[in-house]
Amino acid sequence: MYPSIILKSGKERALQNRHCWLFSGAVKQHPSHAEEGSIVAVRTNAFELMGYGFYAAKSQIVCRLFEFTNQEKLFDQKYWYKKVLNALQMRQKLVLSEKTNCYRLLHAEGDFLPGVIADVFADTIVLQLLTKGAERIQAHLLQAFADLGFRHVYLKNKANPERIEGVLVQNGWLSGGFEASQDLLMLEHGLRFKVDYLKGQKTGFFIDQRENRRILGQFSAQKRVLNAFSYTGGFSVYALAGQAREVYSVDVSKDALVLAEQNVALNFGVNAPHKTIDADCFEYLRQMNEDFDVIVLDPPAFAKNAKSVPNAARGYKDLNRIALTKILPQSLLFTFSCSQNIDKQLFRQIIFAAAAEAGRNVRIVEQLIQPADHPINIFHPETEYLKGLLLWVE
Ligand code: SAH
Repeated sequence: MYPSIILKSGKERALQNRHCWLFSGAVKQHPSHAEEGSIVAVRTNAFELMGYGFYAAKSQIVCRLFEFTNQEKLFDQKYWYKKVLNALQMRQKLVLSEKTNCYRLLHAEGDFLPGVIADVFADTIVLQLLTKGAERIQAHLLQAFADLGFRHVYLKNKANPERIEGVLVQNGWLSGGFEASQDLLMLEHGLRFKVDYLKGQKTGFFIDQRENRRILGQFSAQKRVLNAFSYTGGFSVYALAGQAREVYSVDVSKDALVLAEQNVALNFGVNAPHKTIDADCFEYLRQMNEDFDVIVLDPPAFAKNAKSVPNAARGYKDLNRIALTKILPQSLLFTFSCSQNIDKQLFRQIIFAAAAEAGRNVRIVEQLIQPADHPINIFHPETEYLKGLLLWVE
């Protein structure tokens, strides 16, 4: 039997509703001894079992639940295998195809697997274990990956190796029958991309924009497209595939721009109408006197936590106001936020304020969202983090 957390009476509601996070204020009694990240049972004041999760004694989120049940359970290899298999089957049915071989396999709470992110690029899994609980099931996850036929697994946690509870957390190829993969090429909607998961940001590629990139492609014919915060050129490649007249990729990361150029060349040769610009996007947009009839704004998360929301909101508003001021009449603006702490409604209000300040008439053409392989857990709304608006600007 696993050690137990006992809830205060009347504090069961969130867990009854299968929200994955147990906050410290709801706890009446901690387990007498449970190590950081170990599996604990969560029980009501009447000692009824509600579920199991990873324990984090000192965190505000004391337990991250991965299983809701009133039956006593054992979390063995079979259990974790089943969990990964379920996630894989969902992706195989909804995402994987001859034309797309990169997808998010495990999306943390979105797959009832708190702390675990796994992105698949062709035959390589890039794994991020973001909590101590997630680290403790590393061996089970690796075994499951091997059983499911994956041959290359790269663990990418933090920039600097760190010792946590005797486990050395670092970036590297994982042992257990896995080998390092060669330079990696993958396919997304039939387009080819290089991924630098060793040095690139997050897992190396922003898979979550796959469907939004496709929508951009559909609206790009004969357009001049500005891809602001381009990273390795994902949106740019789709715009070119959609017959854009010219595409600019703007980013502050030189390494990302080198890859953007390579990705364009891989698909369209070296003479494609594409230019990279190493610049701060705020600055670039302010001073530019180029005419664009499609602009993409896909900045990094400005709000890293709840406290930074007001500043982040100002950042999004400024950025969008400048773009809305500069964009040609009868143009399209794709604007995104991937800040978990800024929800759909707030983002829309921010864009509303930017449009009002820019004095442009703006209509919403589409409301954009993360794709199926980044599942939104209906019980855990925090899993919905990517939101965007496609705007028609007059
Ligand atoms: N749209 C991309 C992902 C963008 S990630 C895709 O589809 O793959 C965010 C990018 O913004 C990163 O590449 C980062 O280097 C860049 N960035 C962050 N701040 C910036 C700034 N002020 N100006 C320009 N680029 C910036």
